[in-house]
Amino acid sequence: MGSHRIMEIMSHAEPDAVDHVLTRTVHAGRDQLRSLGVHTPPLDRSTTYPLTSLDGGTASLDQLAGGARIAENPVYQRLHNPTVARWEDAVAGLEHADTAVAFSSGMAAITATVMAARLGGGDHVVAVRPIYGGTDHLLATGLLGGSVTWARPEDVAGAIRPDTGLVLLETPANPTLATVDIADVVAQAGTVPVAVDNTFATPVLQNPLDHGAAYAIHSATKALGGHGDVTGGVVACSEALAQPLRQVRILTGALLDPQAAWLLHRGLPTLALRVHAAQDSACALAQRLALHPDVVDVRHPSLPGQDPLGLIPRQMAGPGQMIAFRVRGGHARAARIVAAVELITPAVSLGSVDTLIQHPAGLTHRVVAADARDEHGIGEDLLRVSVGIEHPDDLWRDLTRALQVSAPVDRPLETVSS
Ligand SMILES: *Cc1c(COP(=O)(O)O)cnc(C)c1O
Repeated sequence: MGSHRIMEIMSHAEPDAVDHVLTRTVHAGRDQLRSLGVHTPPLDRSTTYPLTSLDGGTASLDQLAGGARIAENPVYQRLHNPTVARWEDAVAGLEHADTAVAFSSGMAAITATVMAARLGGGDHVVAVRPIYGGTDHLLATGLLGGSVTWARPEDVAGAIRPDTGLVLLETPANPTLATVDIADVVAQAGTVPVAVDNTFATPVLQNPLDHGAAYAIHSATKALGGHGDVTGGVVACSEALAQPLRQVRILTGALLDPQAAWLLHRGLPTLALRVHAAQDSACALAQRLALHPDVVDVRHPSLPGQDPLGLIPRQMAGPGQMIAFRVRGGHARAARIVAAVELITPAVSLGSVDTLIQHPAGLTHRVVAADARDEHGIGEDLLRVSVGIEHPDDLWRDLTRALQVSAPVDRPLETVSS
């Protein structure tokens, strides 16, 4: 076999040459494994690295401290780790980004993005509500300094100031599944970088950078991990924007543990399978919930009228695995439902292989200002379901039984249709 033939095979093995997300998730970040002589990603837990020479170590330290992705010597785990870098490459490929920077959690990733904007002189953040409760709280408390303006998606342009360093949004948003047209917000933001928390959609369904966003942020704790056993975060962006993120990571120490990166990489090959399977079940459950007499206002972008901007398929390849709905009977009924589910776990978090149900007003969004919760429909009667990959009929049986046994005692159970 001539060498040009080998080159051809190798170039065809590059993730960019592969069209389908099912294939890309399986092979992401694995293109160097064959040359390493291994079939699965190796796990390097080293906290420090032997230096090629003192001068070589000094040069590498300077490069990494300046935000470089890689240097001749990794030097120290807080500066670089090959296992983490391999998973970062995988996520970058899936997000159509130059590169990605991994963090110890989704909140660490969001914190670093805000701090990087401040390093660039932007003290003011424009954020679109609703947004994850922790992000809302981080910005509202002013913990990182600077200030925040909350804007509706259509009002972003008017909220931009000369010192605005970042526009932050989530779509679909946690917990109401409200959707935002990324390209529209990017156009309004002008030269200000737009960060999109892409945790709900996953890179399988949405790539914010394709629509002009500067950053795609994930809580990798959710669908990227997918098995409820690893906490992590990641920001996919251009190489220029990644450098200050890496500097923040070195200084704050909010790095992803290599074992966590290894687990995240292990979960990646099934990401598209999991997201598609869970999404199919979510569509089925959303339809059935919408017909249930004790449920109102089911939120899932697959339902009629729930994608008013026509973002599927223009921005999103599908509606995803998250559902929110309101129950008749308010807080008390919601509490009885989460107490009654058996197959479904009453727990925060999302994107796992198993189905979870939680009460945003009492849990994930408890830290959000009460008036903002009211304004954005995060009421005491709202429940959020992260649909897993179980059979939808089994999930439906559990949900309808929980709805039935939680019905107020003055209503005979027989009249509650299943
Ligand atoms: C969970 C979550 C976060 C925070 O991620 P952690 O890994 O828990 O720190 C951020 N954004 C969204 C949309 C989330 O669901």
